[in-house]
Amino acid sequence: MSHKLVILTGAGISAESGIKTFRDSGGLWEGHKVEDVCNGFTWKRNFQAVHRFYNERRTQLATVAPNAAHYAIAEWQRSYETVVLTQNVDDLLERAGCRDVVHLHGVLTQMRCCACDNVWDIGYAAWDHENGRCPRERCRSRRAVRPNIVFFHEGAPRYRDMYRVIGEIGSNDTLLVMGTSGVVLPINTFAKGVKGRKIINNLKPEPNVDAALFDHVFYGTATEAVGSITAVLSTP
Ligand code: NAD
Repeated sequence: MSHKLVILTGAGISAESGIKTFRDSGGLWEGHKVEDVCNGFTWKRNFQAVHRFYNERRTQLATVAPNAAHYAIAEWQRSYETVVLTQNVDDLLERAGCRDVVHLHGVLTQMRCCACDNVWDIGYAAWDHENGRCPRERCRSRRAVRPNIVFFHEGAPRYRDMYRVIGEIGSNDTLLVMGTSGVVLPINTFAKGVKGRKIINNLKPEPNVDAALFDHVFYGTATEAVGSITAVLSTP
């Protein structure tokens, strides 16, 4: 089949890999208030706590693995013309074989220097926030170095791509939304604007997502939903 598929994922798809979602634990992410560690206004003031938090997330990432939902998304991408948009900062989609994933909120495996805009890979290593410096010779900043993550109260440069891709979904195309609470992104607005087929998977009904806007609704874990989603995708 030749329709185009746009997949928009959230933290829910990585939950079964052992990475906690944010909303499911009462507004805490791995026991931390995101306002303290993921805040564009205060991160410099909370420099050490911010780095400790993201160092933990990054080193934890080395210990987890993609699950059946990540692998299914990679398989769908091989079968259909697909764009994968994700709010996740983990790299499990890539490790499952997805290509050109649009990370709307940045990636854990990169650092960025706000003084000179240098971005570099750090892999799964902890950043030495006491001594580490921007590797660019003429910069060497220490306090301007941060994880390459979009914090709350900051602009997200890749949203422009998201709006374009979602705006281009045609009536023969499909929007598939998986594992997002719709608190950060306006899922209902997207669903209202899309003329094509709309599919959603979430653990349970969400107050910020109007399931009636979707043609197919699958409640349950992402890995439980992949069989039903594969069946829907294979029908014209
Ligand atoms: P969220 O935490 O707000 O919502 C997660 C959603 O996933 C909830 O609706 C929940 O019911 C659902 N869910 C939980 N387990 C599931 C499962 N097994 N299968 C399917 N659905 C499941 O997540 P969000 O909407 O992505 O927004 C949170 C923000 O926090 C994001 O912007 C993201 O950058 C960040 N975050 C990222 C990660 C990650 O990269 N893995 C993890 C936590 C938070």
